[in-house]
Amino acid sequence: AGLGGYLLWRDVRRELDLAEIRSQFAASVSHELKTPLTSIRMFAETVRLGRVKDEAARDEYVDPIINESERLSRLLNNVLDVSKIEQGKKLYRPRPQALAPILRAAVRTMDYPLRQQGFSLDLAIGEGLPDVSVDADALEQALLNLLGNAIKYSGAAREIGLELMREGPWAVIRVTDHGVGIPPGERQRIFERFYRVPSPENRQVPGTGLGLALVAHFAREHGGRLAGESQPGRGSAFALYLPLEAEP
Ligand code: ADP
Repeated sequence: AGLGGYLLWRDVRRELDLAEIRSQFAASVSHELKTPLTSIRMFAETVRLGRVKDEAARDEYVDPIINESERLSRLLNNVLDVSKIEQGKKLYRPRPQALAPILRAAVRTMDYPLRQQGFSLDLAIGEGLPDVSVDADALEQALLNLLGNAIKYSGAAREIGLELMREGPWAVIRVTDHGVGIPPGERQRIFERFYRVPSPENRQVPGTGLGLALVAHFAREHGGRLAGESQPGRGSAFALYLPLEAEP
């Protein structure tokens, strides 16, 4: 009876967790949709009212519309990818290519939010890295997730690092921030789908808990891995290890 009771407890417990996870997920997605939609409407209405005189002023209203739309696309891509993974669908079409242009594309996409929030990004691209077999769009999405996290969890810090280099048989892409960091007890769970560190400060930060799970999935499916390092209160670094092609 003891063991049966234990198993039953576990199963019931898992059901409850799942129900809770689902409703929390619906709440966080709705919350994440609300803010960008509100500001898109606000900026667009201002433009329509014709209060915007010159071109520079127009950009001031149009740039956030573009930026917020891009943020919505990233959120949707994450949700769609998770559901494709759950359905066992193939997500990636890797082909050998240079990684540096993919890093630069991700930086270009984040340029506006970085500038707007006063961040400086230090991009360091190592010499002589051979081509790596990756799905370029998926890698860019993974980098946007890591860079987005570096921004979201930076606290008062305003410096972010992005570097690409070779470590033995690996191409390594590392995103570094100097923000809130991750408590030791949470370091395993942050890679789980939907999981968010339940600290009071983090509750103020929008998120769905899908980003890191997707980046880790991307890494594994490309024969690599995602590694995290963190000092609470001092920052975090996430490194994406991708296998280099066997050299002839
Ligand atoms: P989200 O950011 O949408 O919550 P993620 O899966 O990207 O989801 O991250 C999971 C959790 O890991 C976050 O909620 C946050 O608590 C923690 N986390 C991720 N990246 C960082 C970081 N750079 N610094 C501190 N905490 C982080």
